[in-house]
Amino acid sequence: MSYQPGGSMKRRSAIVVFVLMVLPIFIVLAMFRTSVTDSARYQSMANDAQFKSTTVNAKRGTIYDANGKILAQSATVFNVTLDPIALYELIEDESQEEFERQRDAIALVLSEELAGVNANDIVASFEKYKSQRWANVAKKIEKPVIDIITSRLAEMNVKENIVYNEIDTKRYYPQNELAAAVIGFTNFEGDGAYGIENYYNDYLKGVNGKIISAKDALGNRTDYKNDKIYEAKDGNDIFLTIDMNLQYFAEKYLEEQVLTNEAGNRGCAIMMNCNTGEILAMATTPGFDLNDRGSIYNPEDQTILDLISDQEAYNEEYAILREKQWKNKAITEIYHPGSVFKVVTASSALEERVVDLHSSFTCTGSISVVDGVEPMHCWSSRVHGTQDLTTAMTNSCNPVFIQIGLRLGSEKFNNYFTSYGFTEKTGIDLPGEVAGLSLDTTKYGPIELASSAFGQTNKITPLQMITAYAAVINGGYLVTPHVADKIVDSTGTVIKSFDTQIKRQVISEETSATMRQILEDVVNAKNGSNAYIKGYAIGGKSGTSEKIDENRAQGREDLYVSSYCGFAPADDPEIICLVMVDEPMAHDENNGHIYYGSLIAAPCVANIFKDALPYLGYYPEYTAEELATMDITIPSVEGQIASTASETIKELGLETEILGEGSTVITQVPSYGSSIPRGGKVILYTEEDLEEEYVTVPDLAGKTPSQVNDILTAASLNLKLGDGASANSGSTAMKQNYTPGEVVPAGTIVEVYFIIKDQG
Ligand SMILES: [Zn+2]
Repeated sequence: MSYQPGGSMKRRSAIVVFVLMVLPIFIVLAMFRTSVTDSARYQSMANDAQFKSTTVNAKRGTIYDANGKILAQSATVFNVTLDPIALYELIEDESQEEFERQRDAIALVLSEELAGVNANDIVASFEKYKSQRWANVAKKIEKPVIDIITSRLAEMNVKENIVYNEIDTKRYYPQNELAAAVIGFTNFEGDGAYGIENYYNDYLKGVNGKIISAKDALGNRTDYKNDKIYEAKDGNDIFLTIDMNLQYFAEKYLEEQVLTNEAGNRGCAIMMNCNTGEILAMATTPGFDLNDRGSIYNPEDQTILDLISDQEAYNEEYAILREKQWKNKAITEIYHPGSVFKVVTASSALEERVVDLHSSFTCTGSISVVDGVEPMHCWSSRVHGTQDLTTAMTNSCNPVFIQIGLRLGSEKFNNYFTSYGFTEKTGIDLPGEVAGLSLDTTKYGPIELASSAFGQTNKITPLQMITAYAAVINGGYLVTPHVADKIVDSTGTVIKSFDTQIKRQVISEETSATMRQILEDVVNAKNGSNAYIKGYAIGGKSGTSEKIDENRAQGREDLYVSSYCGFAPADDPEIICLVMVDEPMAHDENNGHIYYGSLIAAPCVANIFKDALPYLGYYPEYTAEELATMDITIPSVEGQIASTASETIKELGLETEILGEGSTVITQVPSYGSSIPRGGKVILYTEEDLEEEYVTVPDLAGKTPSQVNDILTAASLNLKLGDGASANSGSTAMKQNYTPGEVVPAGTIVEVYFIIKDQG
């Protein structure tokens, strides 16, 4: 960071003015008041000064994840403090010279060991507080620094206790940036300023204690037996529903998408138990390190700062950007949900029986809602034609959802909109949550209703979207999402636990079951989905929304929000996950600007699920069709007779090519343990010094999976499907890990990333 704290010059000159001009007046006034007018009151204050009150800080409670891993913890630190009276006693007890020697020694040691402390300040502090036993020098200093100070002062023969250390606590966050926006942090005084630290501050902070000790006439502490002690009550510990492992999966894949798609306005991911509202992971990317939260982590934001030369303007912008990076995007920002919202429109219409699974709709590419007004277009340039509800959901066809919205009517649409919780905060136990921004119900004409039906009118938070979506698939129940699981006191007794809170039932179990089926069919559809995972039943819907307001304000057309919300297992869901990437800006040579939710957010949800589902105890169950297309793991055949090795590999459904005149296999490409599709080729080398066979990597962009497999096999190369890619007939190759034209050994595995393009 290039930030240099400014303003110290100004402050210094203000102090000079104060000392030279104002201070003498105060002293004269103060002397007058004490000696003449106020002597009685001063006397009673002096009596009170016979007591010293020392605060005993309560230990702030620990924050744990769902498995008891520590997310926030307090540790002991020290406040370095001076006892000026003890120093001034040296003038009488020793000499003026000895007083000055020890004073300067202390000033030297403290200024050298403590950042931001200078020797002149120490000397001034002794002078200023010469009649007191307490003057603070530095707060929250860690033990190793304190030890060095203590030993250096001892070496320089400084009288003990002129410098002493008060015990204090400091907050540490062992996981650094993990779940930072959820955990939050404390301010310098030790109170929660953001996140859980703030929301549950009263439970975490405990109650400070006090030691009142008496002093004798000389100001020295009297016998400890006279102390009155009020013990501190330690804070309570909080266990969260957040699981650090799931949080890690969410952050890892979200960050990957935010970076590769050059998201201009961050991204967020939420994983929730759809039946209980327990938040399992909640990520905002780029995030920040809780132990170093003053730094700016978004490189683009830092670039903005670096261009500002004026100190005041810099400070102002720095404060804004820092505040922004601390905010939990999932609950503090609103967006047009786009097509993900179609699950709300469809379920409302099913519940009202204005549509059913057999209803037939037609898309002609556009639809005229009001005569004389420009027709509204489908997102796809391909006319979708006649579709039933499931097909329309799979195609994410706007004209069909406009028709469904119009059948429902604005009154019923708004009733469901309210019932699904979009006009209120979800009530999650985190500070800073905002409500959505919805159109006044009196302003609903056919145009407003039409665009609301596909999620382009009302703005909501990502948390509102996933909570409503959870109700769509969990049997119809709108639950209150929550992050805290239980609060435990310092003896380990549970003093509060957070159970499932159901606000209301929005739709029937029957409608919910129909929606689960539709959304599972969307993922498994013939033209496929980028959220499809082999061996798992997933349901889901993508969304691509235009940032209408931002585009209009900035005179542009390329700002979008790309999102996906999926759940598993599809027939009896437990886990629901929403990913949203705000303002993806990346361009691809073959595909241009990539911004569709199905291309960006869907594979991200699939990747999170691929790690999260087995972790949660859901193991893949492959269908016969999936098994037939499963990759084959290559065994080690090195050291075997070449013909036997070749037989072994062929029996697995792979091809071989033997190179060299030797009898045994010396090396093999690909190496054992790698997986390649059925029909792939393993090259077996039978001579030690045989020159490896090299081949050129072809360009695979735009080719279907079977075309890619054929091309690679013909080139003596092998295919591996990239993460999150689905390789069914509807997808085409988008990325490959070796650039076309690159020369690699025969048999090398080329990783290809497939994507389905024709989806919103
Ligand atoms: Zn259409």
